[in-house]
Amino acid sequence: MNNEKKFILTKELGRLAKWLRIFGFDSVYFNSSKVSSLKILALRENRIVLTRSHWFEKEKHIKVIMLESEHLTEQLRQIIIKLALKIDEFAMFSRCTVCNTLLEQTPKEKIKDKIPEDVYNSQNVFNVCPQCKRAYWQGTHLDNVARVIEEIRDRK
Ligand SMILES: [Zn+2]
Repeated sequence: MNNEKKFILTKELGRLAKWLRIFGFDSVYFNSSKVSSLKILALRENRIVLTRSHWFEKEKHIKVIMLESEHLTEQLRQIIIKLALKIDEFAMFSRCTVCNTLLEQTPKEKIKDKIPEDVYNSQNVFNVCPQCKRAYWQGTHLDNVARVIEEIRDRK
């Protein structure tokens, strides 16, 4: 995995947090205005702060990326270029998009009651979040992901 960079996102960036998780990046979504707690967490866990908030403009002790755009694909592109990240297909879909926990592959019989019948019949690989118990399968976000990656690459 190339995805060793870890992030912490301020509360205006919930959608971006979800997308970084889809790409496999460890991304904490900090849904609170307690800037000092956020900074402590960033320092302790060596996380890069992603933000559009001016609270962080003069920050010297933590690494901060000030996102210029309010558009998701622009934000993703800025981060990818700035940190020279690669989108790693093997890391994709490895994390829960809701709570950031690493997913675990699960035999589908175990989660039969949690997934639609047509999905159960047509898919074989299922992952479950050990934290929030959400089930994922191939195709959960696949169409969207292909579109977003295309948009990121288009304008490079
Ligand atoms: Zn989860």
